[in-house]
Amino acid sequence: MRTSLLLLSRSKRARHTVTHLGFARRAARRFIAGETCAEAMAAIQALNARGILATADHLGENVETRADAERATEDYLDLLDCIAASGVRSHASLKLTQLGLALDQSTCEANLARILSKARDIGTFVRIDMEDSTYTDRTLAVFRDMHAEFGNVGIVIQAYLYRSEADLRQLIAEGAAVRLCKGAYKEPPNVAFPRKRDVDANYLKLARMMLTEGRNGVRLAAATHDHRLIEAIKAEAAEHGIPKNAFEFQMLYGIRRDLQQQLADEGYTVRVYIPYGTEWYPYLMRRLAERPANLWFILKNLVRS
Ligand SMILES: Cc1cc2nc3c(=O)[nH]c(=O)nc-3n(C[C@H](O)[C@H](O)[C@H](O)COP(=O)(O)OP(=O)(O)OC[C@H]3O[C@@H](n4cnc5c(N)ncnc54)[C@H](O)[C@@H]3O)c2cc1C
Repeated sequence: MRTSLLLLSRSKRARHTVTHLGFARRAARRFIAGETCAEAMAAIQALNARGILATADHLGENVETRADAERATEDYLDLLDCIAASGVRSHASLKLTQLGLALDQSTCEANLARILSKARDIGTFVRIDMEDSTYTDRTLAVFRDMHAEFGNVGIVIQAYLYRSEADLRQLIAEGAAVRLCKGAYKEPPNVAFPRKRDVDANYLKLARMMLTEGRNGVRLAAATHDHRLIEAIKAEAAEHGIPKNAFEFQMLYGIRRDLQQQLADEGYTVRVYIPYGTEWYPYLMRRLAERPANLWFILKNLVRS
């Protein structure tokens, strides 16, 4: 099921069909904050009021023309305007293939530099999401070029990749801000751990590495809804006397809202990823692939419609 859903996430025909189905659009709203910047800001304001921070993602990936990459860049500049105007406590997250990475690296870097420069002006931070493993080297290369010039940029490491331990070690030495996630794409067994328990074990190993070796301002952003891993990270931090505000937990909009609130109430920094926009199809399919039981939620919407 996971493999089929991830393959479907790349199908243009399926994307066209699903995004035009009224019940699918309604169901998508469980995981997507809306289609406009104003809707995203409203979702963020509601979270901020409950002591939770945000990172906003204007959905989109794998653009095929420079004009589309330019449009996506403008969308991010608009998002930064919205963040500044509404005064919300939010970062931004983006995908490099949205800014033209698949077309050429220099176009992507020029677009990203415009976004980072504006983010710096308004005092916020931009996280570069990690996409499938065909982009890992190029994503790290762009990150490093930008990190040399901008202090307000971070990167993501995926625990399911065999290479991630070595990448993380180097990023810690470079003082990079790293979000650690398990990884959401379909990867071959020569690239990524095929078994979930190995991914989970590697996640904990990498999180421990960041907590214990990654001092000097290197901040762990532990992106997971896995309560066992979250408990283990809390215990590791307490054991090493690492204060609650020295790292953060990150979760996705609409997933484990109870746990998000519980951690915030316990005094941990919690940041929720807020996806919005019209290009929600691949994002939704990856959320279904992580938990095929979510399909029932979609089907219930079909029955109700
Ligand atoms: C803030 C954030 C940013 C991310 N950025 C990236 C990125 O840049 N690149 C990338 O490849 N991946 C990214 N991911 C996705 C990540 O890689 C995982 O695919 C996703 O978080 C599911 O893994 P998990 O750690 O929650 O653990 P799992 O073991 O998959 O899930 C643990 C528990 O969480 C709940 N849960 C998990 N997923 C769902 C879901 N879809 N619907 C309902 N409940 C669910 C369930 O209760 C489940 O039992 C990000 C995730 C987060 C939280």
